Amino acid sequence: MAILVAGGAGYIGSHMVDRLIEKGRDVVVADNLSTGHRKAIHPKARFYQGDTRDRKFLDDLFEQETIEGVIHMDAFSLVGESMTNPLKYFDNNVVGMVTLLEAMQAHDVKYMVFSSTAATYGIPEKSPIQEDDHKAPINPYGESKLMMEHMIRWCDEAYGIKFVALRYFNAAGAKADGSIGEDHHPETHLIPIILQVAAGQRDKLQIFGNDYNTPDGTNVRDYVHVLDLADAHILALDYLLAGHDSQAFNLGSSTGFSNQQMLAAAREVTGQPIPAENAPRRGGDPDSLVADSSKAREILGWQPQYDDVHDIIRTAWAWKQSHPEGYQDR
Ligand code: UDP
Repeated sequence: MAILVAGGAGYIGSHMVDRLIEKGRDVVVADNLSTGHRKAIHPKARFYQGDTRDRKFLDDLFEQETIEGVIHMDAFSLVGESMTNPLKYFDNNVVGMVTLLEAMQAHDVKYMVFSSTAATYGIPEKSPIQEDDHKAPINPYGESKLMMEHMIRWCDEAYGIKFVALRYFNAAGAKADGSIGEDHHPETHLIPIILQVAAGQRDKLQIFGNDYNTPDGTNVRDYVHVLDLADAHILALDYLLAGHDSQAFNLGSSTGFSNQQMLAAAREVTGQPIPAENAPRRGGDPDSLVADSSKAREILGWQPQYDDVHDIIRTAWAWKQSHPEGYQDR
C-alpha cells in the first residue's frame, strides 16, 4: 500500500516525501511541475506527471497503484497573487479538489490529509488562534482552502472519506543537510527574499507595511519548520488509519515574529547587513497570525523539533548557500 503525495515536487511536498521515505513508507508522487521541481522528487518515490484537475490522469494512477491514503498539498498558495488573479486559485485549488475527491471515491480511497492554512481565519478575533475560531478569509487563497475543507467535510458525510485538515501557519526552513529547499519563481516569501539579499542577489528587502496593529507596526507571523510540518502529516495519516474521525489542526510554533524581528534574526544568522526599507502594504495581509497548536500536540502527539526561528533560518541559509540559484531547472 502506497501513500500518494499530490504536489510532492513542491517545497513542502518534497520535504513530505523525504520524511515518508525516511520512515520506510512506499510513496507515489503526482505533480504537474507547474511550480514544483523534478529534481526535488526523492528518487525512491514513483513519480506521475499530471494535473489533479485531469480525471483520466488520476484514474490511471489509482488503477496502477494501490493507494492507502492521499496527502493533498497540490495547490497555489500566494496571498498576493490570489488577490489579483482569484480565478487561478479557484480553478487549480477548488476544481482540483473536486476531481481528486471524485477519483478517490471512484477508487475507494478513504483517507486524506489536506494542507490547509492560517489564511482560512482571515483577521483573527483573538490570538493565538484556535481551530474553532471564526473563519472569514480576506484573500482568495484562504477562501479557496476553506472551500476545500468544506468540500471534504461533505464527502466525509456522503462517502465516508475521512480527513485531517492541517492549517499551516508560515512554513519555513529546509532539510538541514541543504539537499532540498525552497525555490519559487518568482520568489515572494519573506525568508527566501531576505536570504537573497544576504547572498547579494537582491539589493534590499522591502518590508510591506509598517503601520499594522502590532508592537513594531510590521506583520507578525508564526514560522514552523517544514520538516515539523511533514511529521505532523505522518501522525495525521496514522491517526486516520487507526480509525479516528475527521479533524482540523493548527500547525505553528505558537510564537509570533514580526517582519522586523525576522530581519534582525536573519542578520544574526548570516552575519550580513541585509539592507531593508519600508514599502506599502501588500493586499490581503492580516496584522498578526499566531497559532495555538496545543490540539495537534495533545491529540496527534506532535512534537516539533524546531522551536527557535534562528535555527529555522539557519537551515534555509544552508540550502541557499549550497544551491544559490535553487534547482536551476527554470
Ligand atoms: N513580506 C515582506 N516583504 C517581502 C515578502 C514578504 O514584507 O518581500 C511580508 C509579508 O507582507 C508578510 C510576511 O512577510 O507580512 C510573510 O509573507 P510570506 O509571503 O512569506 O508568507 P504569507 O504570510 O503570505 O504566507
